[in-house]
Amino acid sequence: MKSIANIIIDSIEEGDGYIWVVKTAPHISTCHKNVGTFYLACSQSNELVRDYKESNYSRIFWFNCHGMIVIHIDIPASKIIVNLKYEILHDRSVDITTPIEIRQEIKGNIHLDPVQLRAHLSNRFDISNITIQQIRY
Ligand SMILES: [Zn+2]
Repeated sequence: MKSIANIIIDSIEEGDGYIWVVKTAPHISTCHKNVGTFYLACSQSNELVRDYKESNYSRIFWFNCHGMIVIHIDIPASKIIVNLKYEILHDRSVDITTPIEIRQEIKGNIHLDPVQLRAHLSNRFDISNITIQQIRY
């Protein structure tokens, strides 16, 4: 199910140019096999500011966009419902020059929450340089 969710998220990111991050842990049904709901938030949503506070990400522009995706997957019923909510279509702060290896690393670890993902990335990359370059002023 996670791989299906990832494919959907990849397609949405390709289409809209925003980066979506896991907001809360997925809700996986305990009584039905292969039924679950995945929650994502816009990476620039100010609902995530608290998670990124005092980090290298503090230079990112934040928006009150309430950007949110809810993906409900029900494999037994062959049903997938994708809800995408956006109140403001703001500028994308992450440039397309974002190193491909970091994008892949983020996509490969979409199950991590933002704090874990940040720690994971900073173990592998020099985020301080990259983040500044990513930001479009
Ligand atoms: Zn947003």
